[in-house]
Amino acid sequence: MSCDEFVELVTAYLDGTLDEATERRFAGHLAECDGCDRYLDQIRHAVRTLATLPDQSLPAQARDRLLAAFRDFQRP
Ligand SMILES: [Zn+2]
Repeated sequence: MSCDEFVELVTAYLDGTLDEATERRFAGHLAECDGCDRYLDQIRHAVRTLATLPDQSLPAQARDRLLAAFRDFQRP
């Protein structure tokens, strides 16, 4: 799996919607790529922070926008 593909799949991974084979490839890339390991940590931290906000300040698309911003930030 490439870093680009990893980044594309992060949201699905966090949502638990990856199929088994893809999740294995995802975990495999995570184990061998420090950059993506750190990237996933940042995403998790951001999602946790958002989750502590009151519901009304976190419309569903806010999280998606944040994740998209991370994705764009990560791109070369
Ligand atoms: Zn990577």
